[in-house]
Amino acid sequence: MDKTKEIVMSGIRPTGFLHLGNYFGAIRNYVKMQDEYECFFMVADLHSLTTHPDTKELKANVYRVLAENIACGLDPDKVALYCQSHLHETAELYLYLNMLAYKGELEKTATFKDKARMQPGNINAGLLTYPVLQTADILLHRAKYVPVGKDQEQHLEMARNFTNRFNHRYGEVFPEPVAFNYSNDLVKVPSLDGEGKMSKSENQMATLYLADDDELIRKKVMKAKTDSGPTENNSPKPAYIGNIFLLMNLVSSKDVIKKYEDDYNNCNIRYGDMKKQLAEDMVKFISPIREKVNSILQDEKYLQKVMGQGAEKARKSAEVTIKLVREAIGLNYF
Ligand code: AMP
Repeated sequence: MDKTKEIVMSGIRPTGFLHLGNYFGAIRNYVKMQDEYECFFMVADLHSLTTHPDTKELKANVYRVLAENIACGLDPDKVALYCQSHLHETAELYLYLNMLAYKGELEKTATFKDKARMQPGNINAGLLTYPVLQTADILLHRAKYVPVGKDQEQHLEMARNFTNRFNHRYGEVFPEPVAFNYSNDLVKVPSLDGEGKMSKSENQMATLYLADDDELIRKKVMKAKTDSGPTENNSPKPAYIGNIFLLMNLVSSKDVIKKYEDDYNNCNIRYGDMKKQLAEDMVKFISPIREKVNSILQDEKYLQKVMGQGAEKARKSAEVTIKLVREAIGLNYF
């Protein structure tokens, strides 16, 4: 481990195919950070059990998330790319942190309320303490930066609260973790129907997945909601039109974006043409990643090697942290 580098940690749940939101909210930053920082990136398989108790697809999903991360440019020799369940130290730190998290604040978490609404028959304690487990993942490596999308902002605020409580009660063991994005604002990639964000499991026809084939990408983009266009020069964009521009900003060239911005401001925009252009730029962006993922997935042995070496690297850092934590709490009796 390079002691001069600052530490970065983040994770993605293996609950389905990765999409553009995962890419632009998280993975794009992982790839940029891997040269500058000491990075720990994990497949959050334990987190997925809070919402996906049926584990029939778990293994395939874990392999897919690993392959998708690598296909997007993550180098398993530079970072620790591992599975959350391979580090039993996570469970130990989670237990200690649970004593510092209060029922009231956990019940107020927006993601808990959303998920409780979506799965009223399974409001389990793991769902309630999800932000505590996430804090354990981050603190296990004493990470300072956490590259995540905007939907994780509240969880990171909670992580800072738990960290400060620990440090205050037992002594300064952890840095305060902060959400990270290379530009100032955290990213939220909107869904194509103008309602909510792209997601692994909801709203699949309005989400672009890294696994989508070219025709499906075109079909989804062409279905994006538009209207008959602005009637006054330089008028503000309705949210669903703003979203199409936002998506274009992610994958199209500066000239293309400028053309459609000008057309919009001059009231001669043709949304059909704009969506055709966006669809082709999306195909150009997604198809090489999809093909790389498919080829990596052919080689299970390679993915097992990646997981093994990632766990080994991550365990070294986790063991040091757990020792510091036990000493700080006073659990060292010999
Ligand atoms: P999850 O899919 O919930 O496991 O999230 C994995 C990472 O992707 C987290 O850093 C999320 O913040 C990020 N993410 C998920 N959906 C989006 C989205 N639509 N826009 C931006 N970031 C996202």
